[in-house]
Amino acid sequence: MEIIDIKPRGFCKGVARAVIKARETRAAYPDIPVTILGSIVHNRHVVDMLAAEGIASVTEEGRTRLELLDDIHEGVVVFSAHGVSEPVRQKARDKGLIIADATCEDVTNTASLIDDWLRDGGSVIYFGKQGHPEAVGICEGRPGTYLVSSADEIDKLPDLSQEKVLITNQTTLSLHDTAALYQEALKRLPHAVPANEICSATRLRQEAVMNHPDLDVLVVVGDPLSNNTAMLARMGELAGIRQVLRVETAEDLEGIEFVCSDRIGITSGASTPTEVTEAVSSYLKEWSRRAGQPIGQEAGR
Ligand code: SF4
Repeated sequence: MEIIDIKPRGFCKGVARAVIKARETRAAYPDIPVTILGSIVHNRHVVDMLAAEGIASVTEEGRTRLELLDDIHEGVVVFSAHGVSEPVRQKARDKGLIIADATCEDVTNTASLIDDWLRDGGSVIYFGKQGHPEAVGICEGRPGTYLVSSADEIDKLPDLSQEKVLITNQTTLSLHDTAALYQEALKRLPHAVPANEICSATRLRQEAVMNHPDLDVLVVVGDPLSNNTAMLARMGELAGIRQVLRVETAEDLEGIEFVCSDRIGITSGASTPTEVTEAVSSYLKEWSRRAGQPIGQEAGR
């Protein structure tokens, strides 16, 4: 039985910077509220850890950043690594809030690329997940940008055959699905210019999973709301790994039955703290050492 720590995994540079930015902001403004708009990253442990340090978050499933801003009345607002739209920035300024921007530079680069294109009179097809804060932050307030989540939606786009068209995408999508979407869109609009913006952190983590098709089981550690975590699981399925499990913590593994446990790989999303992944890895190594007995149940009992 082999437990394989797949690398790279866990925190990416954008998430690490966002957490540092939130802490620096708290230290710079010790006497006024510091509130993160939405989750700084999609991970409950990170959100709880910052809350314990006096950095609150306003979050509610189904409400946009623009709507959540109604709940922040004073002090500093921190924008998460996912970025926000210009209407959100404007509303924060109108409310007199101090802005601390933790948007990942990869997201900012995609936004700049789109802005340049729109300024030139072109249109943009943006592959992204409906309702995801990064996709909303990019598409909201940018007329001429069309959010597309599936191949079916490409057929529903207005006629862009005479337009200058850029095709780009959310940074955390699956390499495989995104390539298929580009192929479909370029079939319909061969004159469009593709600019695949999957970030290097997402790409390297997905490629590392694809390089382990011989695993029996893949354990993906991360928050249920994290898109890049979901995409790692998707990559595992596409690689043909027989059992792909998504867990938030080591406790989620208790009672799990593995289809086969000869080779178990562990990876984690870019928003998952190292200590959470390490706890899952330790759990499985201990379980393996006890020849498959669930932890807490001694062999022979
Ligand atoms: Fe930035 Fe990529 Fe990390 Fe998102 S996953 S925060 S785009 S580096």
